[in-house]
Amino acid sequence: MNGHQLLAHTLKSLGVTHVFSLSGSPIKETLPACSQLGIRVIGVRHQQAAVSMALAHNFVSGRLTAAVILSAGPAVTNAATGILVAKDNCWPLLVLGGKTSSTNPARPGTFQMLDGATLFHPLTKWAAEVNSTDKLVEYVTRGYHLAMTGQPGPVYLDVPARVLNDSPTVIEISDPEPFFIPKPDCTTLEKIAEILIQAQRPAIILGKGIRWSEPYKELRTLIETYRIPFITSPMGRGLLPDDHPLCSNAARDFLQQQADTILVLGARLNWTFRFATQFAHDVNLIHVDIAKEELSRHRPNSILIQGEIRQVLQELLPVLRQHGTMSGCLREREEWHARLQEMGAKYLQHREDLANCSGSPMSPYRLMKEIREFLPRDSICIFDGRNTMAAAQEVLPSYEPVSRFTAGSNGCMGVGIPFGIGAKVSAPHRMVMVICGDMAFGVCAMEMETAVRHNIPIIVVVANNDGPCAGQDFRTCYSPGHESATKYLARIPYEKIMEAFGGHAESADRPEHVQPALKRAAESGKPACLNVYVDPQTPFHNYLG
Ligand code: ADP
Repeated sequence: MNGHQLLAHTLKSLGVTHVFSLSGSPIKETLPACSQLGIRVIGVRHQQAAVSMALAHNFVSGRLTAAVILSAGPAVTNAATGILVAKDNCWPLLVLGGKTSSTNPARPGTFQMLDGATLFHPLTKWAAEVNSTDKLVEYVTRGYHLAMTGQPGPVYLDVPARVLNDSPTVIEISDPEPFFIPKPDCTTLEKIAEILIQAQRPAIILGKGIRWSEPYKELRTLIETYRIPFITSPMGRGLLPDDHPLCSNAARDFLQQQADTILVLGARLNWTFRFATQFAHDVNLIHVDIAKEELSRHRPNSILIQGEIRQVLQELLPVLRQHGTMSGCLREREEWHARLQEMGAKYLQHREDLANCSGSPMSPYRLMKEIREFLPRDSICIFDGRNTMAAAQEVLPSYEPVSRFTAGSNGCMGVGIPFGIGAKVSAPHRMVMVICGDMAFGVCAMEMETAVRHNIPIIVVVANNDGPCAGQDFRTCYSPGHESATKYLARIPYEKIMEAFGGHAESADRPEHVQPALKRAAESGKPACLNVYVDPQTPFHNYLG
């Protein structure tokens, strides 16, 4: 067995079912070795897309089931943005980069020579070079476990050509280092139970970190037994359904300003939650996170718990039960719910007015309404862009865990189509729809060829508003007669790209054409692209998480 085969066997034994890659030296033989073991190899058009696909695959499966294998030099640097996306979203990722082996290390100028391990050190949980074939299993196994252990994140390994081509003499393996997750102590649990029972205006914030331990049952028990309204982060949508009676996303600003107690689970209080600046100054803040450094110190009354969400909830629920009912503040809680309902209803009315607009050109909000009427309840939607993402976030609901992707914690435009492909490969039975603005679409549009070639039937909807500056007054940015730096050519027929690849392709101008076109796209069974011309003048509106 050589290093290529050993690497494939190791990935397989760890539970990797998919590899996203763009073939080249020195990994050309690694990919068939994976494929021979039943690992599905998806060949992409750009390495950044390979990483995004693996990230979405892992988020949908809830484990590290997809890895990325890259060739050398520029192929490795092309993956850097994807690795940053993994880091900034706290998502598990294993990237194996081929490294050219110099025959004479003292002689510079070897083709595609790059020290990837040093380059990725600041962006990863661990970046290292596998220095011998004997160590290959140990490094890959350690990297795999590290990516998933504690706060999930990216791991990068340089795998030199000679390590892949050699055969091992002795395979070295050591057990993965144990990771200690602290448990909350009894006094802290008692204190939290007391605060939650006595709170008059309690609230819960849910983020996408919930994904990794799936404490849905425990969350429901907590929220429903103690009638605690909740809001979510953008990708926390659907972890509990949007139509849950206690979901208060429609009144999120009011909730954050008025709550007297806020329990934060699986979210960081970063820009997404405006660094908690909306919270009342005397709020009781309870923050649970597996990573100590993420615990917010925004309020003097904070209770900060480094712990695993599911474990913490499992320990908290019996303590809450012992504390009995919250009969003392029932009236205040009912008032709190009524106020949230009232504020939410106002917002929803405003949103529906926008979504019902029948003007021409079509507003992006109206496009989202047409998509909403069409989508099955368990569909996975990916929103990519600026105005388009904002309109989609507001109008489209999520009902199931892992049914929503956005451009993520660092707003990386262009992830939409790759996320869609990764998600569809991971959940082939669910409809996957990518809704992108025309700028975001352009970043990875060639990956539609990947979808056609591998028969991955995603539906890509382009909200085509002639460029990324829709709704802005160009005169404020440029002098008269300027070259068009931010506004694209008008009415580009993007669907023709999909047509060229052999997928299903259509365009639409009118709201009443959208649903029939989506139906034909779904029935075609092929990857599809629907190019919808929307109003470039629709202003950027509110942002509903
Ligand atoms: P969002 O963007 O949805 O607000 P973030 O990515 O900001 O979510 O935050 C997710 C947080 O969840 C991270 O700080 C991460 O450490 C935390 N996390 C991930 N898995 C767990 C877990 N099993 N238990 C506790 N915290 C977790």
